[in-house]
Amino acid sequence: MGKKIVVANLKMSMNTSDINIYLKSIKNLNNKNVVICPTSIYIPYFLKQHFYVGIQNVYKEDLGAYTGEVSPLQAYTMGVRYVILGHSERRNYFKETNELINEKIKACLKNNLKVILCIGESKEEKDLLKTKRVLKKQLVTCLDGIDIKNVIIAYEPIWAIGTKVTPTNLEIGDTISFIKDVVYELKSDAIKVLYGGSVNEKNIKELNTISNVDGFLVGGASTDFNKFKVIIEEVTE
Ligand code: PEP
Repeated sequence: MGKKIVVANLKMSMNTSDINIYLKSIKNLNNKNVVICPTSIYIPYFLKQHFYVGIQNVYKEDLGAYTGEVSPLQAYTMGVRYVILGHSERRNYFKETNELINEKIKACLKNNLKVILCIGESKEEKDLLKTKRVLKKQLVTCLDGIDIKNVIIAYEPIWAIGTKVTPTNLEIGDTISFIKDVVYELKSDAIKVLYGGSVNEKNIKELNTISNVDGFLVGGASTDFNKFKVIIEEVTE
């Protein structure tokens, strides 16, 4: 399986004084199984250290008149090595479709970025027993025409993000098996699957016992380095 990875999604959560404090707290972080994804304007502060840096979103073109966007080419040449795509907040607030996400994945892989593709069902879809159908559709469309060698999936049930509620270990394990099976059917190749959604310093020990999980994507708890450190140590050491 290889080493598990831990990804921090810092979202748009820190002002400049918060980020200065955070940067001091991660000064001694020396772990290549950790990927930190800051708000993009702060990325230069995180580069050239002993962990990987990711970006939370990019556009699908390399260069051009796309005001406000950042490209995979720009990110890679700055030193960014990972990208989060398809996060439910991007799908929900910015109306990103599976088709657009597919184009973005292609653009990122062309520029050597490793892709962390987020998929997950809403509470309503879960209650209507549509989880597997929704996940399969996301996988089929987002991965269409894609070589998955540099793609990792993050399974993030939308109802678990920022809610302090997580599925049971059994549910997570079953869903991850389903995702791995679907990808194997599509690509005849194995893929890593992370779990994300309300992972914190208290529940990580138990979540980390799920045998088929390849790591974790952490939002809220990654913005406090004391909490994030507990997660890193549990998962990668
Ligand atoms: C996320 O938004 O990717 C996430 C996992 O958030 P949280 O850990 O806060 O639920």
